[in-house]
Amino acid sequence: MKTAIITGGARGLGEGMVLKLAEMGYNVVVNYVSDNSKELSDRLIERIKVEYGVNGLAVQADVSDYSQCKKIVDKAAEKFGQQIDVLVNNAGITNNLSFLTITPEQYSRVIQVNLLSYMHMCHLVLPFMAEAKQGSIINISSIGGLMGVSEQGDYCASKAGVIGLTRGLAVEFGKSGIRINAIAPGMIWTDMLRGVDQIAVEHLKQSIPQGKIGDVEDIAGAMAYLIDASYMTGQTVSPNGGIVMP
Ligand code: NAD
Repeated sequence: MKTAIITGGARGLGEGMVLKLAEMGYNVVVNYVSDNSKELSDRLIERIKVEYGVNGLAVQADVSDYSQCKKIVDKAAEKFGQQIDVLVNNAGITNNLSFLTITPEQYSRVIQVNLLSYMHMCHLVLPFMAEAKQGSIINISSIGGLMGVSEQGDYCASKAGVIGLTRGLAVEFGKSGIRINAIAPGMIWTDMLRGVDQIAVEHLKQSIPQGKIGDVEDIAGAMAYLIDASYMTGQTVSPNGGIVMP
């Protein structure tokens, strides 16, 4: 049976992608960070067992820390074996603070969680994939990685970095049978979007050519496509309603 690991998988886009991975027949290792998310992860794992007959494993870890990322990968290999077929780097945070008020600690944290964690997880999982000569990595970027967004300079930098990481690794590992792609979601209804200024969200909605906010399923569908798209690597797919046309 195939194995997938997803970071920050308990809720939002992560939850949608866990359900899609289960539907695709993967056993899923669901990383979560807070106690609050433990209950969500446990419920999700119960659900994928009942609905799709696959197994899950919840692993608590702050993915900004390399040793905690190693714990996720070690536990995945212990439970499901040495073959890790899919890695989805999804954990992310945002500050929404002016660069005049943000502190170095706050913007450093965004880079650690949104970019360095992706590097840590790729660094730990790629040896397994290289050994198996196959694998697919999906890095969740953002339209913020493709365009400028006010009061999100740190977030935009982290998400543009994810696209650079994706391209570099795709070139290095293309001949090893490993494909690395990114998804740059536009505005999607999750807690992250509910947490930002709703007047700004409404304003932005008007500027989306399709005139609507996306759903979690739009991103889960893009992930499923990229996992199966055997001639796609180093690409950034952006389900965004037309707000950016890179
Ligand atoms: P969310 O806040 O619901 O989910 C983020 C997840 O990351 C949560 O489960 C959270 O616990 C986890 N996380 C945060 N810090 C972590 C850490 N240190 N270690 C482990 N897990 C951690 O938001 P979401 O919208 O589901 O976001 C998922 C991803 O999609 C993020 O990378 C986000 O930047 C990206 N994204 C979201 C949107 C959107 O409109 N919702 C748009 C573009 C990109």
